[in-house]
Amino acid sequence: MKIDILTLFPNMFNSFKEESIIKRAIDEGKVTINTCNFRDFSKNKHKKVDDTPYGGGNGMVLMCQPIFDAVASIKKEKSKVILLSPQGSKFTQEKAYELAKEEHLIFICGHYEGFDERIKTICDEEISIGDYVLTGGELPAMVLTDAVVRLIPGVIEEKSHENDSFNNGLLDYPTYTKPRNYKGLEVPEVLLSGDHKKIESWRKNEQLKITNEKRPDLLNKKVKITKEGLKKSKNKIRMDDVKNIKVTEVKNIKPTGKFKIVNEQKINAITILNPKYIIGYKLRGKSNGNNSNKIIIVKNEFIKKMVLKNIHKKMDILTYRLNVALQSDDDDVTGKVLGEAEMLKSMIISSYARYLGGENLDKIIKNINYLVNEFVKVKTIQSTYMNKTNRRRMS
Ligand code: SAM
Repeated sequence: MKIDILTLFPNMFNSFKEESIIKRAIDEGKVTINTCNFRDFSKNKHKKVDDTPYGGGNGMVLMCQPIFDAVASIKKEKSKVILLSPQGSKFTQEKAYELAKEEHLIFICGHYEGFDERIKTICDEEISIGDYVLTGGELPAMVLTDAVVRLIPGVIEEKSHENDSFNNGLLDYPTYTKPRNYKGLEVPEVLLSGDHKKIESWRKNEQLKITNEKRPDLLNKKVKITKEGLKKSKNKIRMDDVKNIKVTEVKNIKPTGKFKIVNEQKINAITILNPKYIIGYKLRGKSNGNNSNKIIIVKNEFIKKMVLKNIHKKMDILTYRLNVALQSDDDDVTGKVLGEAEMLKSMIISSYARYLGGENLDKIIKNINYLVNEFVKVKTIQSTYMNKTNRRRMS
């Protein structure tokens, strides 16, 4: 991978490139990181790169010419140009994975009051590292570079980032190292047990617990069908399959019209271009047929796999919440978690049942009912015990 960083302050990147994992990745040829001072491209005799804003106002604005020319001099067919800006979409681990697959990234670092708006026309994306304003794009460029480079295959062991926070939609589990007891602070017993199954289940539970406490928003995120997921799917799709597969977001299929099918072997899917020319097709769902210029057909087995993954994640969360509710005396907590279980069942029936097949659906609903019944049993025992104790105390 090659990363070009357009900046007015290239020296800021010197120690960044000279230390630790980034240095090793550069030395091993996994990544090339160049800085380019776009002041060198200025056609102004004083090498000016900014000017006052039209319409008046504070600060200086970066001009189009030096940045347009600098980008043109390094951009190739497959380059992805990213403008660092507090107004961009927020950088996430998912985005880091996406960018790690690119061949060539160009980051443009702003400064002063920002950019001439027209600079956005030569950029593929605008990315922010958070809802705050920095003096320049250099630190954001380092943040993106660091997050992306560590994901390039071979830079660090894949296992080290497998369980990283956000990778499976959860935060990482707690880790400990020697000594076992530090100033009275003990390492959890289970980690010393040598029982790998127990350790794995403890870690999973901790991940759910920590995510629920610190970032409950992550637990409610849906599993998305991504291009990456499609690539990993073992269910290879062939042209012949087009007759037998279910078309997502499309109803009343009569493949008799004029259309073009492109086999996207790499992503295990088939794309139909220009669906509006397909006679007999009616498009429904999120991507409105009038605007869409392609339909991606995904094999049924793949959709089923993703749906099951999503359901298992939701069941893990439910199990965790039932466990939390068991520790609580609050009736509201009990009511809420039982409501969540009911909602999960009806969501599975209304949204997922058609992908699952009767047998799978039956099993899942039975599992949820089992969890709920066990929960209610324990709760009843708990409250009988509490009532008895209270009565004894009163008498
Ligand atoms: N006036 C601009 C605004 O409010 O959108 C802010 C300009 S800021 C002082 C200067 C430059 O720093 C920006 O053009 C951008 O390149 C960079 N920058 C500042 N905060 C950033 C953030 N949160 N994410 C990414 N880049 C940022």
